[in-house]
Amino acid sequence: MPHPTALRDALLVKPGSRVRVEKRDPDETFGYDNAGAAPRIEKQLERMAELQDRFWAEGKRSLLVVLQGIDAAGKDGTIQKVMEAFNPQGCIVSSFKVPTSEELGHDFLWRIHKRTPGKGEIGIFNRSHYEDVLVVRVHGLAPKSVWSKRYDQINDFERTLAASGTTIVKFFLSIDRDEQRKRFQARYDDPTKRWKFSLGDLEERKLWDDYQAAFDDMLSKTSTDWAPWYVIPANRNWLRNLAVSTILADTLAGLKPAYPAPPDLPPNLVIE
Ligand code: AMP
Ligand code: MG
Repeated sequence: MPHPTALRDALLVKPGSRVRVEKRDPDETFGYDNAGAAPRIEKQLERMAELQDRFWAEGKRSLLVVLQGIDAAGKDGTIQKVMEAFNPQGCIVSSFKVPTSEELGHDFLWRIHKRTPGKGEIGIFNRSHYEDVLVVRVHGLAPKSVWSKRYDQINDFERTLAASGTTIVKFFLSIDRDEQRKRFQARYDDPTKRWKFSLGDLEERKLWDDYQAAFDDMLSKTSTDWAPWYVIPANRNWLRNLAVSTILADTLAGLKPAYPAPPDLPPNLVIE
């Protein structure tokens, strides 16, 4: 069973390396099992909560967490089960859908920049600016001459955020085609989940291979020292939760957030 730091290293996309996402096993468990992972996840969530409290109190830096993955990869579930560790005061979730006409009237980063976290805040992106090199590329919503320039534009944008005090962590949730089939079927069969399913999802599913090629380029071209990607094996929700919570807790711990120095107060003050 790897040390948590080893888990993080194993999942990192090394900047400059060429990734084939389908060569990484989405069923990987790293020797953990569900029962063994549960208390470890609890521990990581506690670390996340404790560190966020300091981060918010310190109020000097920002953390941006990007979640990407094909339909049913588990973006919503990760937010529900892992990000719940964070106090909603200081944690803002933004979901990026099909752009509105106002958004389309601007450059693709306009709506994104408006939602980046301020000092002390953690911003969670459920989909992101990466849709502009994924769905836009796969469906030809913009010509190649436009979307192909966006990898560099994204790297520059993220570098600007990083230079102004934002730590960026990007998670790509990786499931395989058969897991998506099972999850769509389960969504359809469950009356409390059917609302999430549409026939359009099946049309997207036909474009599986095109999406994989777009993922490979995205991961290879935009994992940088200042905004690394982690490919999370996501066929098993518990391994996904363990990996994401561990990486987030380690990232926050690495920032060493500190409570502000107490103001000058008299000793032994008793409030009447
Ligand atoms: P969901 O995450 O299931 O609520 O779906 C949101 C939908 O919005 C997905 O089908 C995305 O592909 C789509 N979407 C998000 N950003 C963009 C974008 N920039 N251009 C086109 N479609 C997008
Ligand atoms: Mg959907």
